[in-house]
Amino acid sequence: MSKGSIAVLTSGGDAPGMNAVVRAVVRSGINKGFDVLGIKRGYRGLLNKDFIEMDLRSVTNIISSGGTILYTARSLEFKTPEGIKKAAQNCLEMGVKGVVVVGGDGSFMGARALSDAGVPCIGIPGTIDNDIACSEYTVGFDTAMNTAMEMVDKIRDTSQSHDRCSVVEVMGRRCGDIALQTGISCGATAILVPEVPYDIERDVIARIIETKEYGKQHFIIVVAEGVGGSVDLAKYIEKRTGIESRATILGHVQRGGSPTLRDRLVASQMGYEAVKLLAEGKSKRVVAMKNGKIVDYDITEALDMKRVFDTELFNIAKTISM
Ligand code: ATP
Repeated sequence: MSKGSIAVLTSGGDAPGMNAVVRAVVRSGINKGFDVLGIKRGYRGLLNKDFIEMDLRSVTNIISSGGTILYTARSLEFKTPEGIKKAAQNCLEMGVKGVVVVGGDGSFMGARALSDAGVPCIGIPGTIDNDIACSEYTVGFDTAMNTAMEMVDKIRDTSQSHDRCSVVEVMGRRCGDIALQTGISCGATAILVPEVPYDIERDVIARIIETKEYGKQHFIIVVAEGVGGSVDLAKYIEKRTGIESRATILGHVQRGGSPTLRDRLVASQMGYEAVKLLAEGKSKRVVAMKNGKIVDYDITEALDMKRVFDTELFNIAKTISM
């Protein structure tokens, strides 16, 4: 006999691996005796009662696909007290006893509000930026970085052939993790991230000139979206150093593609854990990764945490990019 229904939705910006979370939630939920519903387009679908029944075969072949089969959206209406009330009422009418929310901090605030309105919610960090303080890893991060790395490798081929400097802007508005880890992996001469104050003369121009003296003939500068200004930076580098410079903004290409092994694995672990928590009667929790293990936190506690930037890794990048 069914234990009732649970639902899953994807919210905020999409990330590769969200489908693997949906698959894990559906299969773990059915395994634990729940009926599982998918909610389309995040909280907007919850307000519009855009629910679909999910069975074991509804998630066949999605573990390897990017994007989200449930679609994602942002909803201003949901943020209002009336919106939260309506969403909770819709859950009640659909017999939904718990919701798994895959998204970022904003989506977790929504999950907290919905939990407070009587619908138990569990959040899963799904965002390419790796900008969730409570978790050392977010689903989508590895795929986005690998995409960025492949793109920078291709840019390097042409940059090398022309003895150029390439300024490459990668995603990350508040968080420089994609820039840092991609920059190290691509041998960037300089990496600019929002977390570390920089001086263009000291951290970019002087480094280019110094490494040129050591025989370097082409240069990669990786800039996080949150720092921005990559087109102007390329122009300035050319003016100051005489080295032909080009800027490339990678943009949305980083959001797509088949998820890497790491994203599929973490998505599967986190989806399973979220259902386990709902089955145990838990509410208002976020699933996270700490020291490589899956853990969970109260949502408010999770939202209050402060992200710690990996300065040690940043210093390694500086040391070896000569
Ligand atoms: P990303 O990191 O990709 O931007 P996110 O989850 O942080 O993802 P947001 O647009 O901030 O993305 O939030 C997604 C949705 O969550 C919003 O459209 C809104 O419906 C809901 N939401 C955001 N903040 C709140 C809040 N304070 N209270 C209730 N709901 C919220």
